[in-house]
Amino acid sequence: NLLAIAVEARGTQGTPRSSGLSDDLFVHDGQITKRPVRALALSALAPRSSERLWDIGAGSGSISVEWALCGGMAIAIEVREHRAANIRSNAAAFGLAHRIAIVAGSAPEALAALDPPDAVFIGGGLDSAMFEAIWSRLPPGARLVAHSVTLETEALLGELHQRHGGELMRVDIAHAAPLGRYRSWEAVRPVVQWSAIR
Ligand code: SAH
Repeated sequence: NLLAIAVEARGTQGTPRSSGLSDDLFVHDGQITKRPVRALALSALAPRSSERLWDIGAGSGSISVEWALCGGMAIAIEVREHRAANIRSNAAAFGLAHRIAIVAGSAPEALAALDPPDAVFIGGGLDSAMFEAIWSRLPPGARLVAHSVTLETEALLGELHQRHGGELMRVDIAHAAPLGRYRSWEAVRPVVQWSAIR
């Protein structure tokens, strides 16, 4: 019934149901997983309602917000204080303050007191010491998704894929942009995504 559909759409403030919301819906300082790549992160994270996410290096909290929109609980861990403040604003703007806990601190130390998660997203600060600290805390069946933009982290993800399996994917995106009177493809830095199950 059409009325029920219209009421439901307003009840969710017209927020699209798909992951990969516009970057403009988030307060950020440029450090944000951009829309198409964020959609791929959420697809790999595969949120189900009531699940718990650790969002490590949460930046603007966009991953935590999209996870929480799917009915789960997110713990956003972010070392930079002004970004933790952005996460707080974004969680509140989406009406998700009750589903997003913010830990303003540095991983892996900041993870010590947390209950184990169903899934982890690592969007920043990954090195092998951090990986070992996180992996050893994950219960069997937990999903881990890590993104890298640097060659150094990419090399680590290559090793981890060899050791632990899972899926290693490189994402190359280009946007059409003006070139004089014409248009041309402007490439975005490639992102490597590794996803694995503990
Ligand atoms: N996924 C985020 C963007 C992440 S950018 C978003 O969509 O907004 C990477 C972030 O990791 C930065 O904000 C950086 O401050 C943070 N970071 C780097 N090392 C960290 C660490 N060891 N612990 C917590 N946060 C870290």
